Amino acid sequence: MTLMTCPECQGKVSDKALACPSCGFPIARQTGGKSAWPTVIGGMAGTYISTQALVSIIVGSIAFIAFAAIMIAMILR
Ligand SMILES: [Zn+2]
Repeated sequence: MTLMTCPECQGKVSDKALACPSCGFPIARQTGGKSAWPTVIGGMAGTYISTQALVSIIVGSIAFIAFAAIMIAMILR
């Protein structure tokens, strides 16, 4: 395992990682052109899924807070 510098956030990333743990930038191994594309696609898919999960968590939290606020307003009224 070798540490390389992320081109996006300049952080330390393992060359075995599919994507940067800090910013989600897909890390493609520059050596061995045959195995590079699955790594890039896997990294992009991982970034997309984690972004979708993050959006779902944020939207869910906002919906829960809005629901709680409405319930509190109805109780206090
Ligand atoms: Zn990064």
